[in-house]
Amino acid sequence: MSVATLNTSISYLKGVGPSRADLLKSELGIFTFNDLLHFFPNRYIDRTQFFKINQLQQNTAEIQIIGKITHIKTVAQKKGSRLVATFIDETGSMELIWFRGAKWIKDTLKVNTPYVIFGKLTYFNGLFSMPHPEMELLVDYKKNLRTAMQPVYPSTEKLTNKGITNRVVSKMIQTLFEEVEGRFTETLSDEIIQKFHLLSKSEALLNIHFPQSHDLLTKAHNRLKFEELFFIQLQLIRKKLIRKSKIKGYNFEKVGAYFNYFYKNNLPFDLTNAQKRVLKEIRKDIGSNAQMNRLLQGDVGSGKTIVALLTILIALDNGFQASLMAPTEILATQHFNAIKELLVGMDLNVKLLTGSVKTKERKLIHQQLESGELHILIGTHALIEDKVQFKNLGIAIIDEQHRFGVEQRSKMWHKNDLPPHILVMTATPIPRTLAMSAYGDLDISVIDELPPGRKEIATAHRYDSNRLSVFKFLKDEIAKGRQVYIVYPLINESEAMDYKDLMDGYESISREFPVPKYQISIVHGKMKAEDKEYEMQRFIKNETQIMVATTVIEVGVNIPNASVMVIESAERFGLSQLHQLRGRVGRGAEQSYCILMTSFKLSADAKIRLETMVKSSDGFYIAEVDLKLRGPGNLMGTQQSGVLNLKIADIIKDNVILKTARILAIELLTKDPSLSLPENRYIKTAYLEISKKSTIWQNIS
Ligand code: ADP
Ligand code: MG
Repeated sequence: MSVATLNTSISYLKGVGPSRADLLKSELGIFTFNDLLHFFPNRYIDRTQFFKINQLQQNTAEIQIIGKITHIKTVAQKKGSRLVATFIDETGSMELIWFRGAKWIKDTLKVNTPYVIFGKLTYFNGLFSMPHPEMELLVDYKKNLRTAMQPVYPSTEKLTNKGITNRVVSKMIQTLFEEVEGRFTETLSDEIIQKFHLLSKSEALLNIHFPQSHDLLTKAHNRLKFEELFFIQLQLIRKKLIRKSKIKGYNFEKVGAYFNYFYKNNLPFDLTNAQKRVLKEIRKDIGSNAQMNRLLQGDVGSGKTIVALLTILIALDNGFQASLMAPTEILATQHFNAIKELLVGMDLNVKLLTGSVKTKERKLIHQQLESGELHILIGTHALIEDKVQFKNLGIAIIDEQHRFGVEQRSKMWHKNDLPPHILVMTATPIPRTLAMSAYGDLDISVIDELPPGRKEIATAHRYDSNRLSVFKFLKDEIAKGRQVYIVYPLINESEAMDYKDLMDGYESISREFPVPKYQISIVHGKMKAEDKEYEMQRFIKNETQIMVATTVIEVGVNIPNASVMVIESAERFGLSQLHQLRGRVGRGAEQSYCILMTSFKLSADAKIRLETMVKSSDGFYIAEVDLKLRGPGNLMGTQQSGVLNLKIADIIKDNVILKTARILAIELLTKDPSLSLPENRYIKTAYLEISKKSTIWQNIS
């Protein structure tokens, strides 16, 4: 049979018909033969083992027994009747029970004929019974195309209720295999199949539905996972190549006077190797006639700002303007001050544009931007207002990617003839595993090394019962002149409990650290902005030694003298949040500490989170653990990326396969960008078929 047959509507499969076809469509998304073929079991039951009735025990899982029915009776019950059959083998007897469909089933049962029965046991009054067993005549059982491992397909309640049981689905698939004689079109090239010792498509499909052995089942899984990941990567990489060849960008040919002067005279430290490497990657992009679209990931404190600034200087050297956008006014102002300071002695015009810039200054900025007098504009969202027109924006840098949507990013494109190069910086590590799939069409740079001399933040987990010794420790640190954060979870803004915890905590801390010796600031989300600011300022000026706060302090605060972070009810925070909070300390020269306070009752996941924090300060490692605990669905930016619609592969567990598939896809497209070589004909056909259906592009930037 040919490929066309696989596109036949499922309603034409023998034993399906229109009403079952409708159910398969609505419940499982199965429309064609091919869809059914790619509807994979999610587990297998070992059917090599048979039980004897005298071996039966309570609480056994699904089991199978060979025996025969000796007697059938109908027992009246409240509604209708139930059917009870006595079932025996040479060792004993038990009951088979049907609560529904008694009448219909009674007619189909054969007495004194060997059956294989399969199902879960119940035990009552010293007698075993099996409700609604799966039954098959022993002769049929021996005849059928089936194997030791019986597939169990995903199902829904509706399907089961309508009689489309696992057995019915298995039977449909068996019919399908018979109709097409088990021959399926290959989708990979011979070369790939041989190189990676893969099963052919036909063998893989046969063994995923009817495993001939454990070994072949594993191989079938591998082949199908590989194929799935390979075609996703093929699409992602192809898209990236198309973008690069189609979207032209400014070519920053030279590194000139600004860059060189700065590098020689103003650079306050040696760049780390990671910074140098990333800078090289950026330079390659911006000197290539194509628009750069790069994501720069680097943990808090890894030194992204200097990389941004050096990139900006290259743009200026080529006669262009640059912009740097941050998500909050505090961060924008911090960048502005830091960059002004770094550029001291250089004749460059740098301005800050935020919502609170006065009209007069704003007008000046607009003017200078349009005339080209302004070199670098730093600011918040105010940067992408329509009134803001650059003379020639060459590079747009965006700090903290996740706070800006794709829409906002693309807004910057339309300000000029060619789009500016785009560099997006984020401190939220996207695990590499995920980045490859979710952002496979963006270029990614990673600063995976902290500047030298950073002291690791000593992290400890303490129980509430250790509170006194923790207080003692805080007093010692405060006596040395340090400051302390104490953070309470505020998972839900409206949760009265959370505020109560915070206020109770604040009271007990006030008792333990009394005035006038100690001063305490408190900041939480229900306070007015100006009160918050006032309390923050007191802490910044070191007028208070303790800051009691909710997670509002997560973003943007930089207080180098604060060296202790106490996180209350730490079991309630997610890993990335714990990591972000901890990043608030360790910014000065002193040894810093993070203390995770919890009660004794901890879930298994919470234990892993706490252990991970104590063990590691590597944001990428922490993000990987987070990904494993929570699954990709909960991580930012992945919801719509298509990685979740995987049928068989798992981007975490099958990461090795993913990497191989990715490398292979790159090699293949480098050699044969349009997939037109004869040896790649199967790949091309499959690729076109998949691309037709695939929606993974629609939501990726
Ligand atoms: P982030 O990646 O979080 O934006 P920053 O760019 O703010 O990090 O850098 C954090 C601190 O590290 C800054 O004070 C910066 O001056 C310093 N820094 C950056 N790179 C280096 C380096 N190579 N050597 C020493 N200090 C560095
Ligand atoms: Mg930063």
